[in-house]
Amino acid sequence: MAGKIPRTFIDDLLVRVDIVDLVDSYVPLKKSGSNYVARCPFHTEKTPSFAVTRNKQLYHCFGCGAGGNAITFLMDYSHLNFVEAVEGLADFAGVQVPRESGEMPAKKNNVTEVFQVLEQVASFYVEQLRDNISAKVAVDYFKARGLSGEVAREFQLGYAPDSWDTLSKRFKVQQLVDAGLAIAKEGGGIYDRFRGRVVFPIRDRRGRVLGFGGRVLDDSLPKYLNSPETSVFHKGREVYGLYELLSKSSKPERIIVVEGYMDVIALAQFGLGYSVATLGTATSKEHMELLFRFTAELVLCFDGDKAGQKASWRAVEAALPCLRDGRQVRIMRLPEGVDPDVLIRDQGLEDFELRVSSAQTLSEYFFERLSQGLNLGDMEGRASLVNKAKAYLEKLPNGIFRDLMQDKLKALSKIEKLDFFENPATLKSLRHRQTQADKKLSPVRIVISLLLQNPEFIEVIEQKNINWLMINLAGGDLLKQVVEIIAQHPNINQSQLVEYFRGRETEKYINIMMNHDFLISGAGLKEEFSGAIDRLIQQGKSSRFDELNAKQKVSGLSVNEQQEMLSLMSPK
Ligand SMILES: [Zn+2]
Repeated sequence: MAGKIPRTFIDDLLVRVDIVDLVDSYVPLKKSGSNYVARCPFHTEKTPSFAVTRNKQLYHCFGCGAGGNAITFLMDYSHLNFVEAVEGLADFAGVQVPRESGEMPAKKNNVTEVFQVLEQVASFYVEQLRDNISAKVAVDYFKARGLSGEVAREFQLGYAPDSWDTLSKRFKVQQLVDAGLAIAKEGGGIYDRFRGRVVFPIRDRRGRVLGFGGRVLDDSLPKYLNSPETSVFHKGREVYGLYELLSKSSKPERIIVVEGYMDVIALAQFGLGYSVATLGTATSKEHMELLFRFTAELVLCFDGDKAGQKASWRAVEAALPCLRDGRQVRIMRLPEGVDPDVLIRDQGLEDFELRVSSAQTLSEYFFERLSQGLNLGDMEGRASLVNKAKAYLEKLPNGIFRDLMQDKLKALSKIEKLDFFENPATLKSLRHRQTQADKKLSPVRIVISLLLQNPEFIEVIEQKNINWLMINLAGGDLLKQVVEIIAQHPNINQSQLVEYFRGRETEKYINIMMNHDFLISGAGLKEEFSGAIDRLIQQGKSSRFDELNAKQKVSGLSVNEQQEMLSLMSPK
């Protein structure tokens, strides 16, 4: 993607915005000591363990571990991608996002233009369905499925004529390609992606058309076709039907997740207006988090065939990390070979809703599925169940649901002590554990943590004149990176510092270390830091010594290496 946002702008923005004001505008904060606290917006809790720290410009939840800077907050809270979050933050600060090398204004226009052309094409396809004689086959298809004009309008159903250049005769070539509506030919020129299909516009929560799904009207393949990923369309984060659902009810009691567009539309036609479909991709954690923003209960309703059951299990796997208290996932079984579209048509709304309300709970489904093929009457079977369940249950957030799942596993396995479960951590016990852990922290972790939290400690490192070649221990590279960033950006603050690690492999560790609570303060911290560096240098020396020693035994040492070894033997 072109049009990078300049790093300096992001740095400035993080200074310009006070994270306390930002978070407070979403989640009302209360002052508590030097922090501001609230009940965590990312998990359900009775007492606040979500803290925002003004001097660090970071937030952190001691309950669920959520944390980061102002950009992270917007990404997580509003489900935005990085660029969207930076734009949101810029809006909040009342500034414009510049783009590097004048490339971006073009890019920005491009996104606006892509939205425009998608909107225009959606209207054009609707017109075609209504006016084009060749659309009769599409109209017949919808009629055969019992769709009313009202539902067709609600979902903006359309028809893409069976021709290679319907769109390219009417719209700008580049815009069609950017919007995923046309495909470039090898020798030049383009052709329409959707031909001879009924089309379903896919809209975002604001009602903007992002792309299309299309279904053939004869036996040709592929039966279903989706727009590709574009600058505005990301399948892993969007679901079909959410805009239409939310226009009817902004807080539905539950949302049903189905597999296809026609399922969503047929359910709506028969009076069930609270279903959505994934877009030909597996149901992801992002999908789940998105849907849980609007409801507390998701019902997975996939086809009764093998593929549908597999999809169902994958959706359950994706849901596990999202299952904070108060959220529920249930699994609705369909007879084999029957999809929701067919079922509601045959049996009617009442019967269908009865099935919805009696759908299996996640725990029943989960253990039933894992126990398949195991004999729980014998030890091996039960042990194998524990092994299989373990990896999944560990992904569950702390809370009552996790406790209940754990109890159920104990009951099924007849094993009373399953020590891989930790008790739900309270703030106090977390702190206690951390103090214990402090003693076991490696020097390199102490140095990185303290440096992240106190970038001004860089002066201690500068005074010590460290031979970085020697620090080739685990974590040494990360330390070097942190030192470099701070050295290049004097006065950097913590929230800017974490920004440098966004998207890197080390991001997670940086966040953990940034939030490590040392329970010492003032001058003690600097002493701890200095001591840890000395230990680190010592560690580096002794590992170098071991290395030379080993080499000496195998192949002997050069004169330089002998001298080096001697110097390593002398103190300091
Ligand atoms: Zn939390």
